[in-house]
Amino acid sequence: MEQKQKNIETVKNVLKQYLQEKGYRNTPERYAIIEEIYNLEHHFNVDDLYLLMIQKKYQVSKATIYNTIEIFLDAGLIRKHQFGEKTLSSSSYEKSYFDKQHDHLVIYKAGSDKEIEEIIEFCDPRIQGIKDAIEDAFDVDIDRHSLYFYGYKKR
Ligand SMILES: [Zn+2]
Repeated sequence: MEQKQKNIETVKNVLKQYLQEKGYRNTPERYAIIEEIYNLEHHFNVDDLYLLMIQKKYQVSKATIYNTIEIFLDAGLIRKHQFGEKTLSSSSYEKSYFDKQHDHLVIYKAGSDKEIEEIIEFCDPRIQGIKDAIEDAFDVDIDRHSLYFYGYKKR
């Protein structure tokens, strides 16, 4: 089996266990939606996901997508981002279960009022160094961090 397919199976099992533990219904839409998300290579918002499901002829409402997203967030299967979207409904998400640590650079369209043109993922080992130093200095185990850079391309 292809790695991606294996990952999707793993995530579906995690979801199944989570739904059981929480006493939530084991609906087929939830599995269809998590599969679509784990087939994506990029960040997405609710509208992207809704369109994708409609194109694939799934009968889901936007409300179902919103609901399901909340469940996936709580289950640790996706993470929510703050790329500076103007409305809450356009928040971005990405799959997170197998993810390597990375941070984000948000580039706005030239001359726009913070209209997002591109989101670049980067991994800088110096951030790990900072984390280690903070852990030592404050005698803590850091669980996660959040770092975004926002800007415009230089002319
Ligand atoms: Zn990312």
